Amino acid sequence: MEFEFWWLLAFPLFFALGWLAARIDIKHLISESRTLPESYFKGLNFLLNEQPDRAIEALSEVVRGDEPETVELHFALGGLFRRRGEVDRAIRTHQSLLERPDLDKEQKLTALFELAQDYHKAGLLDRAEELFGDLLDTAYSRSALEFLLEIYMQEKDWHQAIQTAQRLGRESSLPYHRQMAHFYCELAVGAMVRCDPDAARGHLEKALEVNRGCVRANILLGDIEAAEKHYSGAAKAWRRIETQDPRYLHLVGERLLTGYRESGRPQEGLELLRGYLARYPSLDLLNVVFQATLETEGTDAAYRLVRDELRRNPTLQGLDRLLEAQMLDTPVERRHDMQLIKNLVHQHTRRLALYRCDNCGFDARQFHWHCPACGGWETFQPRRREETEMAQMSHD
Ligand SMILES: [Zn+2]
Repeated sequence: MEFEFWWLLAFPLFFALGWLAARIDIKHLISESRTLPESYFKGLNFLLNEQPDRAIEALSEVVRGDEPETVELHFALGGLFRRRGEVDRAIRTHQSLLERPDLDKEQKLTALFELAQDYHKAGLLDRAEELFGDLLDTAYSRSALEFLLEIYMQEKDWHQAIQTAQRLGRESSLPYHRQMAHFYCELAVGAMVRCDPDAARGHLEKALEVNRGCVRANILLGDIEAAEKHYSGAAKAWRRIETQDPRYLHLVGERLLTGYRESGRPQEGLELLRGYLARYPSLDLLNVVFQATLETEGTDAAYRLVRDELRRNPTLQGLDRLLEAQMLDTPVERRHDMQLIKNLVHQHTRRLALYRCDNCGFDARQFHWHCPACGGWETFQPRRREETEMAQMSHD
């Protein structure tokens, strides 16, 4: 098809039309807004051009006066300061707003809520807590509760955190039971550190009361029993995880083995874990069973275990284990080559062997109940990345 050159003429025409339209708009805008000072437009212009420093300068000039129409501008400016991390200026802006006599009730509440957030961001938790407390039973009640919950978690004040989560659950009809169970677990950990097992047990029973599926509570209950050398009680608590969520069983694999060994029944412990591994394939469980098999039954048995497991569940990390088992049986002169291969595989599996937070994507070598990056509770996948990704792939 031939290119039609007359189209080229059309472009300048479009530009001219666009320019004209823009000018008309601006003229119209300026004639409409004679009442607003010039610096306001300057400020807006800088904002639109992403020059927040100059925008703040221009807008500050406008709000120097106390005219009623500058209230909204004060709010905008205060928010801007806080977002940019200039909390001192944000606090001053919102404090001066609160001192104005012409604020209506709603504006006053908004200014309080903003100031509370400034304090929170500045790390002045006591003052923030007080102001958020004043905002309960107002229109800002729910947001204030959410901030308060965050503050109590920062302060590790778990009693207050539990009460706040309870109230949030009532007011928002969102489920907070999972978090609450972890707050009880935190209380239990504190009691265990103080060597007060009875108090710890009480907290853990509460944890299971608010969330029957709280795996961590059963892990800790078992730990308390094991610390008192009540190994059968410990094993009983840990085994309950199978009915809660078997994907977490690997967290107690090592503990179960030790418990059975300490009570003189090592073979029974190993059989139990082998049963788990058969029913719920898991790399972490495989690792535990592999080590135990190696120690009690020798290299051949350990090698057969990983080989069968790899056939059933082909993963890179499984291959890594298989190579390790093979190396144990390799004559010394050929071990060097095996080591090379193993290192290569191991480099690949390192990334896959991490646990990932579902909420923020943070990767960690260790499993965490409380994400160190985003502060989410129970947001980590119970399995390592390779297994999680494979499970997702087989679902797609
Ligand atoms: Zn996270």
